[in-house]
Amino acid sequence: MVTPCDVPVGVITGDDVIKLLKHAKDNGYAIPAFNCTSSSTANAVMEAASKCNSPVMIQASNGGGQFMAGKTISDKNACAAGAVALALHVRTMAPYYGIPVIMHSDHCAKKLLPWFDGMLEADEAYFAQYGVPLFSSHMLDLSEEPDDENIAICVQYFKKMAPMKIWLEMEIGITGGEEDGVNNEDVDPEKLYTSPEQVYSVYQALAPIGDFFSIAAAFGNVHGVYKPGNVVLSPQKLLGHQAYAKEKLGSEDDKPIYLVMHGGSGSTKEEIETAVSAGVVKMNVDTDTQWAYWDGLRKFSADNFDYLQGQIGNPKGPDAPNKKYYDPRVWIRKAEESMVTRCIESMTLLGSKDTFPVKKPENGSLPVYNFKPVPLNLLDGAKKMLGL
Ligand SMILES: [Zn+2]
Repeated sequence: MVTPCDVPVGVITGDDVIKLLKHAKDNGYAIPAFNCTSSSTANAVMEAASKCNSPVMIQASNGGGQFMAGKTISDKNACAAGAVALALHVRTMAPYYGIPVIMHSDHCAKKLLPWFDGMLEADEAYFAQYGVPLFSSHMLDLSEEPDDENIAICVQYFKKMAPMKIWLEMEIGITGGEEDGVNNEDVDPEKLYTSPEQVYSVYQALAPIGDFFSIAAAFGNVHGVYKPGNVVLSPQKLLGHQAYAKEKLGSEDDKPIYLVMHGGSGSTKEEIETAVSAGVVKMNVDTDTQWAYWDGLRKFSADNFDYLQGQIGNPKGPDAPNKKYYDPRVWIRKAEESMVTRCIESMTLLGSKDTFPVKKPENGSLPVYNFKPVPLNLLDGAKKMLGL
């Protein structure tokens, strides 16, 4: 086991995020980032991390935020409020699982910037009260825009996030496939490979503001699981990006840039290992855990078919009750168990398994309302405002 990273358990932010991602880069592992759309899926992720001594990332997409809010809430702030609700759930429960969690938000295209603004507003409010942002990290994905515009918008937002030390993940070049309503299935194959110059131009623009950023460079990766197509996954291109940046910077570090990988579902073990060895510190997992969650339920339904056709009546008798089968806590749990198994598979593959010995809290030792104490200077300000 590597010397574990010295970060606290629960949702981590700021310098702790940098420390953890640097630990991953230096020790040649990546942290899986699972898309979650409910407390159930978030718990499955944290359970898996806890079971295999792994740090983990939980991410909310725009559509995931909407689902978390409830599908019928059409308010323009619904997706941000839903993502906030998920972050609050994870913040409250993560310490009980005894592992560090990076709370992140997924792809945000230009048209979704109001969603991003909403989450930042929550970060600022949380920061004013507790001295840390609500989320650890956010992704901006302006990769559909011209590079200049993409980078300029990232700079503008990164400046806003820097005082709170929120990690920024940005994308340059295009990830193929379809995700969360953005369809890149017919994009020019050339655009599916980011060049070293593009990656370095992002570094040049963001590094003067802070070092807490990562880049999603496209190397033929595709969202979702498809039949092998005409684009070849080339993770060795990432090594080229690092070498180029190292030379430009005159750096001692062979991997000066934090890279992230999208569209890892369906990739081979070798492809993922090459990507991680090239400085990929985070890999998104969504499609495979979606399937796992469903598959748990599918199996349960198939195995217990005769107990799931009515409230009463099963092979044991026409009046036998079926409540123990259709209670959501039974069948959702089957979905969770299946997802836990799949999450552990990702942690094993990415090498994050057994890098952080789980630190479960002593029974009853955690405050139920598990927020950080209000900094004294802010308390004073609040007291003044209230005339106390
Ligand atoms: Zn993605």
